[in-house]
Amino acid sequence: MRFVYNANDPQLEALYDYIVIGGGTAGCPLAATLSANCSFQKEAEDNGKTPAQKFTSEEGVPNVRGRVLGGSSMINAGFYTTADREFFMKSGIEWDMYSVYKAYRWVEETIVFPPTMDRWQSAVAKALLEAGVGPDNGLNLDHIKGTKIGSSTFDNNGKRHGAVELLNKGDLNKLRVAVHATVEKILFSSKASSSSAIGIMYSDSNGRSHCAYVRRKGEVVLSAGAMGALNFYNLVVLAQNLICDLLKSQLLDPIHTLGSLCMTILVT
Ligand SMILES: Cc1cc2nc3c(=O)[nH]c(=O)nc-3n(C[C@H](O)[C@H](O)[C@H](O)COP(=O)(O)OP(=O)(O)OC[C@H]3O[C@@H](n4cnc5c(N)ncnc54)[C@H](O)[C@@H]3O)c2cc1C
Repeated sequence: MRFVYNANDPQLEALYDYIVIGGGTAGCPLAATLSANCSFQKEAEDNGKTPAQKFTSEEGVPNVRGRVLGGSSMINAGFYTTADREFFMKSGIEWDMYSVYKAYRWVEETIVFPPTMDRWQSAVAKALLEAGVGPDNGLNLDHIKGTKIGSSTFDNNGKRHGAVELLNKGDLNKLRVAVHATVEKILFSSKASSSSAIGIMYSDSNGRSHCAYVRRKGEVVLSAGAMGALNFYNLVVLAQNLICDLLKSQLLDPIHTLGSLCMTILVT
């Protein structure tokens, strides 16, 4: 992939229209789409020392998260289905459903495959139907009641197709992907009247720090996964006095602040 650079590569520009933090399941298709519509952008990816990072939740459940280009789509079970209709209705967001379904097809045409129904899968489907989990929906990508055959990001040869492949659908001349880059800080404008993110500070595999900025009206988009995003929230809380009086005044409770931080980054 000629648009992928090591974080310490001097060819990486310092100024972009969009900076997407986290080249995972969400970040890769987002970066590809933005590059196809706009000019330069850069995607920052973590240090990639281990593709799957272990962690244990507060409830004591051991889990892993993907720390490579493609994110958790490179280590997950690969089951693919579309979201529940109720999710859209209850989300409080006015979705353009035409664009949502177009986006699903955009992903499906590249990395989603109907599964091979081996004896084990066929037996489980039959058992569910026999146990009364109906109706039998056959091969279906919708999130529906009953038994169905979903799809997979593994092809019929057992090869995984992760979100990283979606980067190829962007405008490759306008895309810069930095690997072995750990974003340490999101930089905000120091003007008290503005809460805009203006850039990021990231470190390369040698521990050296670099900065990248967005042009005027540019955007920094945080898509570092649920845990990655939470880390940024913690950093923001630690640095609140320094970065932005406005954020501080909105610090009503952690969840509220995390939401408003993400929104600020997404919409500025
Ligand atoms: C074992 C397992 C099995 C799963 N099976 C399925 C399944 O079958 N079907 C399904 O739909 N879902 C499954 N999931 C869930 C699904 O994979 C995740 O919900 C989805 O990948 C999350 O996407 P994301 O873009 O939010 O985060 P991710 O895909 O995790 O991407 C986050 C990216 O941000 C990067 N990042 C984080 N912090 C930084 C930083 N500071 N600087 C730079 N980069 C950073 C990470 O390295 C990563 O590349 C599974 C998950 C796991 C762990």
